[in-house]
Amino acid sequence: MSDFDLVIRGGTVVTASEQFRADVGISGGRIAAVGAKLDGAASIDAGGLLVMPGGVDSHCHIEQLQAGGGADEETFETGSTACFAGGTTSVVTFSTQFKGGGILGPLAEYRQRARKAMVDYAFHQIVTDPTDEVIRHDIPQAVASGVRSLKVFLTYDPLHLNDKQYLRVLGAARRLGALVTVHCENYDAIGWRTAGLLAAGRTAPMYHTWSRPEIVEREATHRAIALAELVDTPIQVFHVSCAAAAEEIARAQARGVKVWGETCPQYFVLSAADLDRPGFEGAKFMCSPAPRDAAATAALWDAIRLGTLDVVSSDHSGWSYGGTRGKQVNGIDASFPDVPNGVPGLASRLAILFSEGVGAGRISASDFVRLTSTQPAKIFGLHPRKGSIMPGADADIVLWDPTKKVTISNDLMQHAIDYTPYEGREVTGWPVATIRRGEVVMRDGVVQAPPGSGEYLAVAPYDLIRPRGVLPNGFDASAFAD
Ligand SMILES: [Zn+2]
Repeated sequence: MSDFDLVIRGGTVVTASEQFRADVGISGGRIAAVGAKLDGAASIDAGGLLVMPGGVDSHCHIEQLQAGGGADEETFETGSTACFAGGTTSVVTFSTQFKGGGILGPLAEYRQRARKAMVDYAFHQIVTDPTDEVIRHDIPQAVASGVRSLKVFLTYDPLHLNDKQYLRVLGAARRLGALVTVHCENYDAIGWRTAGLLAAGRTAPMYHTWSRPEIVEREATHRAIALAELVDTPIQVFHVSCAAAAEEIARAQARGVKVWGETCPQYFVLSAADLDRPGFEGAKFMCSPAPRDAAATAALWDAIRLGTLDVVSSDHSGWSYGGTRGKQVNGIDASFPDVPNGVPGLASRLAILFSEGVGAGRISASDFVRLTSTQPAKIFGLHPRKGSIMPGADADIVLWDPTKKVTISNDLMQHAIDYTPYEGREVTGWPVATIRRGEVVMRDGVVQAPPGSGEYLAVAPYDLIRPRGVLPNGFDASAFAD
């Protein structure tokens, strides 16, 4: 009789801290043993391959509800397919709130849509309108249902919060044991520069980058951290794009503040010059913060090496380039503020980071696992079930060929979006199989998983995001005023 349902044989296991040759034994969807010469009812030969925990993409917009009804083009089915194609097995996606409405209605609809997922999924809850009812009733209910991360925007119409609103969300998070994730850019500064650019006739996609220079990101990052420190609530700063913002995070970390920083592949390989491509094509590369330049990219690698930034997510936010509902929803010559923001990246995230990071000698394979799987799982309360290869963990595994050269094309992405910003880019290193809870869901690019086989990950309280207990005058205002 075999000891295990499945054995992954002869590969190099890579964890966030070490690499070693071992077999991995899987039973009942979980990792049952890591060791030598394991015997299974079935086996996969992983000779020459890296055996790594499946990717955890802790920031991606999939089937997100849109104001006025409907949802993003990327559905939970297409998004799951793209994830598996790229080696990712768990995601954290976004339930949203529309100004003037509550949280629980959209959360219920979103939960319903997510039932089609094949990846395992947890939710962030976006808060755009922290009314008394939302603060006192809706957010506690959402957290009780396992949504332990609140997302706020400091810019974007109609999503942004002012400082008082942001403080209220921080206070609620502190009382409830939730993490706050923050999009850091200065709303008024961007609006002011945008008005000037439009008045000057500078409307092309390129001017999106001019509307939001590094200064507006740096200022908002500083403010987001300062207010979080005032309330004593841990935060993660999303999509850090430049040295100036990373420096704010590093300074706060040096003071002991619980602030984490995330970045995304687009900030390593895209630049403002991509938005300056002829015609309207620059819209394909339009995201916020905007891609910057070679100096910013170099600084991000430094911030990764120093540990200031410890998560690389996709911030997948897919809008097709053609058609009438994506980048061209307002026409082929729309002014930059009228073009939807975001780039797709579910399937390309791991390959780009591996190639640019491990392939180029900037980080180790263990660093890669830590940045793309283990640390996001830890920060969002999914560890050790997700993000690790050890007995008891879910058998979420990607088998990775570190030497395979692939030219990225949109058909390899297997998403709902009609383009990838990385078309034609050559990478070294590619996933050859993805295993989710012990089932092979992707092999040589062919994804096979029944819709609805993904599981909702309700997040229980966890220690990492416990407040430090450090408050001005030792006084916790959030305990007395919400
Ligand atoms: Zn995002």
